[in-house]
Amino acid sequence: MQIDFDNSYARLPDRFFTRLDPVPVEKPELIAFNDALAVELGIDQAGSDEATLASIFAGNRIPDGADPLAQLYAGHQFGHWNPQLGDGRAILLGEVAGRDIQLKGSGRTPYSRSGDGRAWLGPVLREYLVSEAMAALGVPTTRALAAVTTGEPVLRERVFPGAILTRVASSHLRVGTFQIFAAREDHEALAALADYAIARHYPEADGPAGLLAGVVAAQAELIAHWMSLGFIHGVMNTDNCAISGETIDYGPCAFMDDYHPQTVFSSIDQQGRYAYANQPRIALWNLAQLGTALLPLMPDQTQAVEEFTEIVNGFGALYQAAWLQRFGAKIGLSQPTVEDADLISKLLTHMAETGADFTNTFRTLAACDTLDTEWQAEWQERLAEEPDPESVMRSANPAIIPRNHRVEAMIQAAVAGDYGPFHALNAALKTPFADPEDTTLTAPPEPEERVQATFCG
Ligand code: AMP
Ligand code: MG
Ligand code: MG
Repeated sequence: MQIDFDNSYARLPDRFFTRLDPVPVEKPELIAFNDALAVELGIDQAGSDEATLASIFAGNRIPDGADPLAQLYAGHQFGHWNPQLGDGRAILLGEVAGRDIQLKGSGRTPYSRSGDGRAWLGPVLREYLVSEAMAALGVPTTRALAAVTTGEPVLRERVFPGAILTRVASSHLRVGTFQIFAAREDHEALAALADYAIARHYPEADGPAGLLAGVVAAQAELIAHWMSLGFIHGVMNTDNCAISGETIDYGPCAFMDDYHPQTVFSSIDQQGRYAYANQPRIALWNLAQLGTALLPLMPDQTQAVEEFTEIVNGFGALYQAAWLQRFGAKIGLSQPTVEDADLISKLLTHMAETGADFTNTFRTLAACDTLDTEWQAEWQERLAEEPDPESVMRSANPAIIPRNHRVEAMIQAAVAGDYGPFHALNAALKTPFADPEDTTLTAPPEPEERVQATFCG
């Protein structure tokens, strides 16, 4: 197998990371390898059999040119400052075609704290499936290149099969990466990090202010996109907020079935901090932390506070515009105006009152007979100005999303040794805007199938 590694992160100052290899595992076996993504990355796997792939993506065999390391970062977890986190169960092998190749679940590191450094099969398959589904839905996201089982047990609520995910990301730079050097008052490292982030993600940005503005815009687009799909990230800590604007960390994430703005799935989110409707304001809070971390790089602090506050507060208008564009498209409007926001909001209020299924209501909007007739009339009148509302709606409203009960059933089957549901679901989610052959995939859960809580894994 030929992987053309660059190691730009490894060339940053030593205090950015700890160099170490993944901890080898007992008996690696390949579950899935993402051929299409490998092609995109220019990875040549000619002549590699499954055993070779399994051993590379389990971390047992370090590919030529890799320079494995665990990254250091900090973060606010549920609003509480944690001065040191870092890759506690992940190893960056290096970058390929400008993107990070990281093994997740690859054993303990100096940043593991009390963790075992491992992941179990459930969260690995969940991340593989959901991140690939997000990519197919057009949402900026980390990707999944491979999933392997380790042949080792992992202890959680009970013993589960261990697994490792190979994650591909535009980078793993997070708000928390900036926060750690700001908190340590290591301004040299902070400056090097800002330069690195700019070169990698926002080459047109003119210094820290431009970087901040770039991240604000990317996050505004991202969160509006999540909202338009009913996606709940579940753990929007500053260490899970990517500078690139990609969705990262598919721990307790979930898509809503019936629409309720305060929906929370994550078992550890007791206060509902990361509920569906709170996501935009949490993103804004995270961006304010990024702004704070970047401040020491500015010559005039008073002026910089003012400038950065304005940039961060610019999130509101950017988010509103992105939200309007996304939700406008969901009701068939290719060029929604601020006056249309009311029409969209009325529909959402009605959906919340009736507990309507978020995905299916939009997908079948034209045929929906449970809708408020007054709303219908107003909507039809507005649609008369649209040349082709049907196709606008069909490309904004997916037929299939990774529904929680499906994901849970898929995980249970996999734990029992049957990967059929994983592969079937993964295949169907490649074309989320087409009506699937298997119509059961679009069905909301029956009451007894409903997933009440999700876990980080
Ligand atoms: P998360 O909430 O998934 O973003 O993880 C927060 C921090 O905990 C990160 O620094 C992870 O690397 C670390 N972590 C999560 N699970 C484990 C584990 N099983 N072993 C070691 N570290 C972990
Ligand atoms: Mg994380
Ligand atoms: Mg996580």
